[in-house]
Amino acid sequence: MRIAVLALQGAFAEHRKMLCNLGIDSFEIRQRSDWDEHKDGLIIPGGESTTQLKLLKDLELLKPIQEDIRKGLPVFGTCAGLILLAKDVEGEDFERISTMDIHVKRNAYGRQMGSFYTEDNFQEIGKVPMTFIRAPYIMRGEPHVDILAETGGHIVAAQQGNQLVTSFHPELNDDPRIHQYFINMITKQ
Ligand code: GLN
Repeated sequence: MRIAVLALQGAFAEHRKMLCNLGIDSFEIRQRSDWDEHKDGLIIPGGESTTQLKLLKDLELLKPIQEDIRKGLPVFGTCAGLILLAKDVEGEDFERISTMDIHVKRNAYGRQMGSFYTEDNFQEIGKVPMTFIRAPYIMRGEPHVDILAETGGHIVAAQQGNQLVTSFHPELNDDPRIHQYFINMITKQ
């Protein structure tokens, strides 16, 4: 198995380290030609979604990524990655990758509570560490979206078929179970 990690900006190295610890091969997507390599899944890291979106467009990566996700390529988006995958972001009316039927609020915890750590339940896994950094949350999902985790009354992880998102950063803690969940999604496909 080989996982592509979008490496334009943000916490991509941490995702690769997590995959490496699980014995999974990965490579970085930095330009259009990288996308033509064989991959079994894609990780879109946290960082700054506006910067990542600009680079995805400039590098002509947005459309091919969007098409392959629509065709069923497994994808895991964390934080900014979640924002890029969401079909609707509150107050921002422009297209991103926009393949997942979720409605999202960016920087949802405001300045004071912008970054925090908690632990809460994740479906099938149990309690997991959750590190939030100027995070979004999911206000709601269409009925075919499975809610995988909530904390403080907000949805923070969800799945729609081949698409998995978390508004927190599982790559920043030592717990590999959410990455393992993504790998299991791929092997079950
Ligand atoms: N606030 C960032 C954004 O809107 C996301 C933060 C993160 O990925 N840690 O893109």
